[in-house]
Amino acid sequence: MQIWNNLVAKKEKELKENGLNEFIPLKRSVPYFAIKKLQTLKYLYKSTNSGKSFSNKINRSLSEKWFESTDKKIGGYIDLVLEGEKIKIVDFKTGEVYADRESKRVKPEYEIQLKLYAWLYFEKTGNYPDELWLVDLKQQWHSIPFIPEECESLANEAKRRLNDISLKVKENQSGTLALPNFETCQNCNFKPACKFYWTLESNDKNHFLDLKGSLKAVEEFQSGSLNLEIENEDGIHYIVNFKQIDFESMKLLQNQEVQIFNLLRTKKEGVFTILKNTKLYA
Ligand code: SF4
Repeated sequence: MQIWNNLVAKKEKELKENGLNEFIPLKRSVPYFAIKKLQTLKYLYKSTNSGKSFSNKINRSLSEKWFESTDKKIGGYIDLVLEGEKIKIVDFKTGEVYADRESKRVKPEYEIQLKLYAWLYFEKTGNYPDELWLVDLKQQWHSIPFIPEECESLANEAKRRLNDISLKVKENQSGTLALPNFETCQNCNFKPACKFYWTLESNDKNHFLDLKGSLKAVEEFQSGSLNLEIENEDGIHYIVNFKQIDFESMKLLQNQEVQIFNLLRTKKEGVFTILKNTKLYA
């Protein structure tokens, strides 16, 4: 139960830091929260008590514990550390864990994350863990093989990159660091301030999207909701049922460039509706 509470608290803290207060508390915003909680607790209980991978005796378990390198350049919250006959590090993932479903290859960034955790654990305790595990929402456990030398070389590479980035920022060359792509950018909180993001071609397959353009017209309805007309190089776009800003304030933005994030496509071409986390920036 403590693990569950810690994970929920961690996620809520993350949302708050990213300005997504509308999703807090998660128990109100996540559909079937209580069912998910029971499923997870049941699974954790089964895994830590009778699962093949956790059959060894556990002397100590640490959940959501912060580990950092002695020079404080690398750090992270490790979801679960189980110390017993064997030392195991476990990371829970809520999204897809495979880079390629057919070959069942785990995403390389998750492998790197866990290997860096192994190195952080070594920095703190002087010992490497015996096993690294990724757990997905389908309750599948994925073992991540590793050797200590590899973990150490990843940590050195991470520090080298961090130094490079700091140098480029100091030299006012941060623009050379931007590598926009949909996968990375879609969850980035710096999108509203990032000019590189808009260099991406629009992704028609995505149901969710962000839009930038000139606000051409605003229409108010009795309910207080607004319809917006946005024009950009791709044509005219309509946003229906917009409620985040009142009519008078919106009229002041007419003919100005606006950016709207987290819209939902409707079945009608060029017409979008809003979500709970839709945000407009002028
Ligand atoms: S939106 Fe900008 S800052 Fe964020 S990941 Fe993309 S390129 Fe980087």
